[in-house]
Parts: sequence; C-alpha cells; structure tokens
Amino acid sequence: KNLKKYFEVKNELSKKKVLKLKAVDDVSFELRKGEVLGIVGESGCGKSTLVNTILKLFEPTGGKVIFEGEDIYSLDKKSIRNIRKDIQIVFQDPYWSLNPRWLVKDIISEPIDVHEHLNSIEKLERVDALLKMVGLKEDAAFKYPHEFSGGERQRIAIARSLASEPKLVILDEPTSSIDVFSQAQILELLRNLKDKFELTNILISHDLGVVNQMSNKIAVMYLGKIVEFGTADKIFEFPQHPYTKALFNSIPKLGKEGIESLVTLEGNIPSPINPPSGCSFHTRCKNATEECKKRKPAITYLDKEHYVSCLLFEEGHNA
Ligand code: SF4
Ligand code: MG
Repeated sequence: KNLKKYFEVKNELSKKKVLKLKAVDDVSFELRKGEVLGIVGESGCGKSTLVNTILKLFEPTGGKVIFEGEDIYSLDKKSIRNIRKDIQIVFQDPYWSLNPRWLVKDIISEPIDVHEHLNSIEKLERVDALLKMVGLKEDAAFKYPHEFSGGERQRIAIARSLASEPKLVILDEPTSSIDVFSQAQILELLRNLKDKFELTNILISHDLGVVNQMSNKIAVMYLGKIVEFGTADKIFEFPQHPYTKALFNSIPKLGKEGIESLVTLEGNIPSPINPPSGCSFHTRCKNATEECKKRKPAITYLDKEHYVSCLLFEEGHNA
C-alpha cells in the first residue's frame, strides 16, 4: 500500500545538493493466495527495487506491506524472521546469488537452519528431496556451484527458495541470464512447483512471453509507478494504457512477410532522477497533450480489478 523507495544521489555538479531518485513511487496492489502476479516494464523502471523493498532488503521510504493481515514493517526482528520463512526470492543471476565456496547441500539448507533445528541426516534428506523436485541428481549435494550450468544453478536457487516451505515466492527475472533451451525448462518447473505447493508468485520479467505463460495478474511499471494493473486476460487482450499498448506492440510478431517487428515504443526511458513533469510517460506517448505535461494522472478504476493511471481515462477529460 502506497509503497515508496527513494534513493538519495549526489548531484555531480554541485557536490552538496542531494537529489531524490524515486525508484518506487507510491505503488499499491493486492495479490491473493495462489495467484501469480507478473510485473513488466523496461529495465530501470523499478521492478527489482519494488520486490526488494517488499522484502525490506531495501529500507522502505514509506508505505506498508501487509502479508496475511500482518503489517510486515511494524514487526520486531524475530517476527520478521518468521515471516521471511514464508516469503522467499529467486534472483536473476544464479552466478552471483549462490555462494561459490559453499557445497550445494549447505546452500540449499541455509534457510532451514534459520528456522528449524534438524540434525544433519534429516537436513540431508530434505536437501535430497528438494534436489529431486527441481530435477537434479542426489550427488549434486556434494558439489560446488561452479560445477553446474546456468540452468542447473537456477534449479539450485529454486530448491533453496523452497527449503523453508514458503507461501510466496518472488521470482526476479528467473530465466533471463540462462540459455533459451534451459529457459523453457525452468518455466515449466516453476509452473509445476507452483501447482504442487499451491504457491503464490510474483514474477518479474521484461519478457512478456514469459509473463504471459505464468501470470494471472499483470502490473505494468513505468518510472517507479504502476501505470496499469489487472488480470492477465484483460491486459493481454485489451491493454488500455498507452504505455502498455506500446510495450505489447513492440513484441515481434510472425506475419506473412516473416518477422514483423512493430516497434512503436521509441526513445529511452527517461532518468528517474529527473523525471518528466506531469505524466512521466508524456515524452514518449503518442496520445500526449499539453495537459499531460502539466498534470499527474491519478488512478482510475476501469473495473474492480483493473486500473490505469492516465489522464485519458479520468472523468471530465475531454481529449
Ligand atoms: Fe499519455 Fe497523457 Fe495518458 Fe500520460 S496521461 S499516458 S502522456 S495520454
Ligand atoms: Mg531488475
């Protein structure tokens, strides 16, 4: 609810002046048990910062995170540790997220050690079961991360994320640093594990194909804000926000003449340190008017579960 994460950055010109980088700027959404929320947007729009702030890996600037009725940020350290057991994250790059000096069995059982007191035999049994679940052989337990491919390392990271029997697993670009063949297999694995353990997922990806395969809710982010939120069916079939439309149109499609790339999203994402005035998408928006340069759009609900942040949808707007 109204989540904010601002970073302070030094102004290069006048060394003293500190600027605010609004990486996550007033983000609200709701996710129910068993749902998969896909968060999409170009790189640098705040997707990873959002999930790191949800987990309090980054100190939030403002807002609340309510998990099963509990306001996470108001809990003491011990209660936070208990909730961490229920919420796990798989990071983008399995090359740096796994400690290279640890055996796989120790990497996977680390979350168990924090929350449970198992003896070494019980722990190894749990590790073996987890390795099997992610499609790795038992002997993987006594190897080091460098002995595995990128796809296999991501399987190890997934096994670790499941070790504490979590309810919510956050996946931050889980397939973007591995080869295309392994990507498809990892996605299938994630879908199977989601069903098997009745997990709730937040899936970050800049790849709309990946998001489309997994998600039933979509949040589209631009410069630290969610500009459109709704069910995957609606957003894929009838995107409403000009940014969502442009983003989805820039997926290359296979037409009669071969690959037709409908690149309608021009220009780069502006710097979040100095974002455009009014609606921050106005510098790239095909529908932008003078008003868009001056006025920030509020959130407009199109139905109970679908909202957009764009002046075109505001009541009384006469564009
Ligand atoms: Fe485009 Fe204006 Fe809507 Fe922003 S508010 S997305 S600039 S039409
Ligand atoms: Mg990221």
